[in-house]
Amino acid sequence: MSDSTSNDRWIDVFLLRMQEPEDVNDRPYYTTGSIVSAALMRVAVLGLGCIALAQVAEANVVWWTAMLSIWGIGVYPAWLQYQRFHQNVQQITVGTLCGSCRYFNPTNQLCTIMDVHVTHAEPPCEGEGWEPKDTYVEAD
Ligand code: SF4
Repeated sequence: MSDSTSNDRWIDVFLLRMQEPEDVNDRPYYTTGSIVSAALMRVAVLGLGCIALAQVAEANVVWWTAMLSIWGIGVYPAWLQYQRFHQNVQQITVGTLCGSCRYFNPTNQLCTIMDVHVTHAEPPCEGEGWEPKDTYVEAD
């Protein structure tokens, strides 16, 4: 990955853009981990900004600014992004063969036996590794 692509990736994660780039199709662009880490980075930056603001403003101004900015800029965009991620996982879970397979992990859209992300209707194993979620093994 080139430096500019890597920087673009960090800027995207930090800003929690709602739409993945069009050329990203082999893995989920946003995951639970990237959403949470972006929210934490943004809250940390806002916290530093509020500490700086506390040097020049009254306490109630600082508290209102902190609460509104942390909610509006730090947490709410992350919550929206998580909703979008969850919708994508739901579409895969309901609409693909992988969604009905016991090896599909919806938390990170991963096939646990192939260790690859599931992003298309076409299963990465081409159906050979599929096993139903509710495998009933009868005891002898
Ligand atoms: S084993 Fe095959 S069908 Fe099952 S989750 Fe992995 S790729 Fe999908």
